[in-house]
Amino acid sequence: MPVKIRKYGLFIDGKETDSVSGKTYIRENPATEEPFAEIAEAQKEDIEIAVKAAGKAFEAWSKVPAAERIKLIHRIAENIDRNKETIALTNTLETGKPIRESRSVEIGGAVRTLEYYTGAATRLNGESISVSENQLTVTLKEPLGVVAQIVPWNFPLLLSLWKIAPALAAGCTIVLKPAEHTPCGILEVARLCSEAGLPDGVLNVVPGMGEVAGQSLVEHPDVAKVAFTGSTAVGKLVMRTAAETIKRISLELGGKAPCIVFGDADIENTIEAALRGGFFNQGENCTAITRLLLHEDIYDKFLPPFIDRVKQIRQGDPQNEETELGSLISKEHFDNVKSYFEKGLEEGGQALHGGGRPKSMKKGYFFEPTVLADVEPDSTVACEEIFGPIVAVIPFKTEEEAVRIANDTVYGLAGGIWTRDIKKALRVAKAVRAGYMWVNTYGGIVPETPYGGFKQSGIGKELGTEGLDMYLETKAVNIYIGDKIPAWYKG
Ligand code: NAD
Repeated sequence: MPVKIRKYGLFIDGKETDSVSGKTYIRENPATEEPFAEIAEAQKEDIEIAVKAAGKAFEAWSKVPAAERIKLIHRIAENIDRNKETIALTNTLETGKPIRESRSVEIGGAVRTLEYYTGAATRLNGESISVSENQLTVTLKEPLGVVAQIVPWNFPLLLSLWKIAPALAAGCTIVLKPAEHTPCGILEVARLCSEAGLPDGVLNVVPGMGEVAGQSLVEHPDVAKVAFTGSTAVGKLVMRTAAETIKRISLELGGKAPCIVFGDADIENTIEAALRGGFFNQGENCTAITRLLLHEDIYDKFLPPFIDRVKQIRQGDPQNEETELGSLISKEHFDNVKSYFEKGLEEGGQALHGGGRPKSMKKGYFFEPTVLADVEPDSTVACEEIFGPIVAVIPFKTEEEAVRIANDTVYGLAGGIWTRDIKKALRVAKAVRAGYMWVNTYGGIVPETPYGGFKQSGIGKELGTEGLDMYLETKAVNIYIGDKIPAWYKG
């Protein structure tokens, strides 16, 4: 039976609309390679309309009392939760990820983030600073204005809500550009926000190509800030473009996370965490463990049981509740991941498992969970971001060597440490130049904690109170409370 193609418009000023040009594009389901959605494609003129709508909405939205904003954000969270099965299915259709991850991580995490920021909306407090007897200064926290939010395809809902929730709490209005591959779920969420009572124009969603819709948004003079998540290469471009109008920017970029396992680690737990760290979300995860650093004392003890567990990962139809590993996002990405695997072999890595499409899958961009052992720390697979289910295993001898390898990258997003020695764990956590570290666990980023990269992994933070600050400007108001101001000119 032919698949029914769903239709999606742009979401501007509370309504779904066609693009001015009428241009659309087709998205396929990566697990079946069949088209499933036709999506309106925003051009420069559509971005103009969306930014105007957001600018108009800002006047009223920025003045809505925090208590009312909180109630509304709560209602949005409830509405998304009520509709989670529908949105989870859309998310799985457009990403190829297992339905259980769509439901619990994308929707569950999105709802949790909204709930966290309902609390934050009541704490947009400045300070009062006593400068001298006659002078008092108060600081005000003011919303930035219209913000552009540009997101990638790997967690299209979770990462959008990491941006939308604090922006709403702060009183900003939003024009969000989803990734080309994954606009459908977030368009459904925008509709649900509107149904929950979000005023028209506060959240606009404009699917389109990065170099057209994304670029126009970053260039737009009425956009105060760009919150970007994506590759380091595009992040540099965004930073350059945003410089033209001195926009505020926050950048969440690529990663090459190391996970350092010392000789005294609890092997069973480490294996559990390494599976999740390496293969969760098909390895299409900026914090994925792509470099598993194993101390020489446990190298041979760790790998056989690890590979046994890797072989048991259930890969298949993402809509099946039992599936643990789905398909990659696109053919282009599949080919890219495959070429990294081949490069890894050429450069001396040993394939312990995986390396291509599983024999049981006839269609779809499924790539097996893959482990390359004996990888040289300076080889391509150990240095470049692969963004797929390939774990490179690197042996090491000393703590100093492990830290040196961990830091020998332009990235600095996340990392993990496994040891029973608390002093060593803290020493290494401090020595690794990355923004988010796990000790004796791996993976899971919660809204309470600030998250963001060091080095070329980004600028600024998302989540936590620092994530909210990214949508606020601090204004100092100096108040003279004496009788007569001191004379400067004596005549
Ligand atoms: P990408 O950089 O290709 O695209 C990201 C977004 O930028 C998309 O919406 C795209 O359309 C848009 N874009 C492209 N060109 C643009 C331009 N010239 N101006 C404005 N916008 C433009 O990244 P991707 O392939 O979608 O996602 C994978 C990358 O994202 C990986 O590098 C991954 O590490 C990174 N990522 C980082 C985090 C994090 O939190 N640090 C989280 C998820 C993904």
